[in-house]
Amino acid sequence: MARPKMILTAEQVLTRKAMAWATKIRVNPTRIVIAELETKWGSCAPDGVVTLAKDLVDMPEEFQDYVVVHELLHLRYRSHGKTFAAMMTVLVPTWRDLEASYPAKLRGQ
Ligand SMILES: [Zn+2]
Repeated sequence: MARPKMILTAEQVLTRKAMAWATKIRVNPTRIVIAELETKWGSCAPDGVVTLAKDLVDMPEEFQDYVVVHELLHLRYRSHGKTFAAMMTVLVPTWRDLEASYPAKLRGQ
């Protein structure tokens, strides 16, 4: 029996991207959820569930990386301290520009 050809939706592609980053950063999210988020691009709950905004799929890849890495790093660092910023710079060197160039949905998360 022929297997149906796998066609990934944009949301599945984003989930895979997040899982690839999680492996790279060596964090282990409980689950990655794509959902409608009106006031933020992503969130990281204390139980390890990382939620990414549905409309992130329409944003440029590098901005997706920025949001994904930001939220995944919260599995290690709860606050936006010096270590958090240093890790962002290692993983997404352009993150400060990205944060400044795109809608500030993420701020304060
Ligand atoms: Zn944050």
